[in-house]
Amino acid sequence: MELSVVVPVYDEEDVLELFAARLRAALDPLGEPYEVVVVDDGSRDATPRLLEALRAGWPQLRVVRLRRNCGHQAALTAGLDRSRGAWVASIDADLQDPPELVPVMLTAARREGVDVVYGVRDDRTSDTWFKRRTAGLYYGLMRREAGADVPADAGDFRLLSRRVVDELAALPERHRVYRLLVPWLGHPSTVVAYRRDERAAGTSKYPLARMVRLGTDSLTSFSARPLRVATWCGVLGSLVCLLAMLTAVGAHLSGATVPGWASTFVAVLFVGAVQLLCLGLLGEYVGRLYAEAQHRPPYLVASDTADERRPTRPASWQR
Ligand code: UDP
Ligand code: MG
Repeated sequence: MELSVVVPVYDEEDVLELFAARLRAALDPLGEPYEVVVVDDGSRDATPRLLEALRAGWPQLRVVRLRRNCGHQAALTAGLDRSRGAWVASIDADLQDPPELVPVMLTAARREGVDVVYGVRDDRTSDTWFKRRTAGLYYGLMRREAGADVPADAGDFRLLSRRVVDELAALPERHRVYRLLVPWLGHPSTVVAYRRDERAAGTSKYPLARMVRLGTDSLTSFSARPLRVATWCGVLGSLVCLLAMLTAVGAHLSGATVPGWASTFVAVLFVGAVQLLCLGLLGEYVGRLYAEAQHRPPYLVASDTADERRPTRPASWQR
């Protein structure tokens, strides 16, 4: 098998057929053996049925069904772990990443002899102002924390060689943010620029809460710097405290000790808030440690059409 294309899919009934048609039109002319590994991330709409129908006319389509929604990065992990190609591309199903670019990436990788090809968005005008600004902030921060090798505006549209996929699979870390982990591995890479289109149909599966989650996961998995916030707050607090003590002694000696309700009140509130913030930061890391220590699998596979020993049972999703 030369090429695997991993596609995490969650409730994408509106766009799936369109996506399949465009991807197939891009892959068939390659004339090389390939597989498309669609990871159905516990969809509750017509997605499983549509996939079953598509499979009837497209032998290269393989469906890995997860038992329940495990999240985008976990679905990606499932697809990467089960892919068999010498090259593995990952792409979103919503046609924001053009499938026609997969062969371009493959050619670029072979021509330049690199292990990684990033799809980089050079035009985000189709995204909302808010998404552009938060993305700018995210990539800026992550380049600082995870290293300048992280290409700005590279999402999860990329091509990896088998070597990289195997290395990723061998990492003991379970909760992964691939857009940071892949550059961190440090393989020779190149980029292919593209214009990010609008979602062809359906709605985003990344509401604000999930974006925040990805952001905290990214930061905590690559930097312990937030933990130092507590230390710096402590140092600063001690200095302020020293000044306040001197003032207090001065006030006591001069006998002017009656006023001071507002300053006490504000100080108590402020110190309380800072302490809670630091506790919360600490909690983020403890939570990550806990999740990794539990050692639970990040995804749960219900069926894989390539797995003969465990045949798919469509009855399991027909409620
Ligand atoms: N996705 C997934 N599981 C999830 C959320 C999303 O597999 O829990 C898939 C989704 O079907 C799509 C890709 O991940 O193929 C990216 O999601 P989306 O396009 O909604 O994110 P956005 O482009 O809005 O950031
Ligand atoms: Mg999208």
